[in-house]
Amino acid sequence: MRLFDAHNHLQDNRLPDDTASMMAECTEAGLVRMVVNGTHEADWERVADLAKRHDCVLPSFGLHPWFVHERSADWLARLVQHLDAWPSAVGEIGLDRWKPGLPYDEQEEVFLAQLNLAAERNLAASIHCLKSWGRLLELLKENRTPDRGFLLHSYGGPAEMVEPLANLGAYFGFPGYFAHERKKRQREVFRRVPADRLLIETDAPDQALPGERVTHPLDQGLNHPANIAAVYRAAAEALGQAPESLANQVEENFLRLFSE
Ligand SMILES: [Zn+2]
Repeated sequence: MRLFDAHNHLQDNRLPDDTASMMAECTEAGLVRMVVNGTHEADWERVADLAKRHDCVLPSFGLHPWFVHERSADWLARLVQHLDAWPSAVGEIGLDRWKPGLPYDEQEEVFLAQLNLAAERNLAASIHCLKSWGRLLELLKENRTPDRGFLLHSYGGPAEMVEPLANLGAYFGFPGYFAHERKKRQREVFRRVPADRLLIETDAPDQALPGERVTHPLDQGLNHPANIAAVYRAAAEALGQAPESLANQVEENFLRLFSE
């Protein structure tokens, strides 16, 4: 099977330094392409560097809501420079009202500036949203979005919002984390996702699978991107689909959203 990781952070310095052997393990697991998401100005160069060294890396550049308050004065110009050099995807961007102590003011303006860049260039945007689903839906309705669509990474919103979001162009990322027993409600939400809008993601090094499903363990419970095959298996089980046909559908979806 040909596997596609719609969202990870291979540049994260919590992962092992030996990226080459990590990539070899991913290839062996069946991975064809992965979207590597930058989160703040300091890691964009590393994302670009990974893309130069590894063909399977599709680089994505964005300012994550957790880092909005530490952005530089010329962050947007720097983002534009990276997108000029690598016109592939925008993210990770988003809204977060969940993280304790995180300021919300300025998150919307920073999110919208990046969404607008993605729309102007018709690049896929990868969106993080925690405890802001109603507001996100409003903003997506009121603002221009990329014609090709956008990814709601690790979709944790309610079932009844799947349809209106899909109508606006949303794809929905299923992470291994949703295989945990306590995530039953979210697994059921994914049964409402249209077949042509489903994507699979590791979000490595975060959102690890339940221990017994992990094929590539790392210290401190971190998530290795080669666990992607196990995430596909968990998604196929949750959706009651044959693994082979799920993989074919996800490949089509990935190539449609992230084609260059
Ligand atoms: Zn992420």
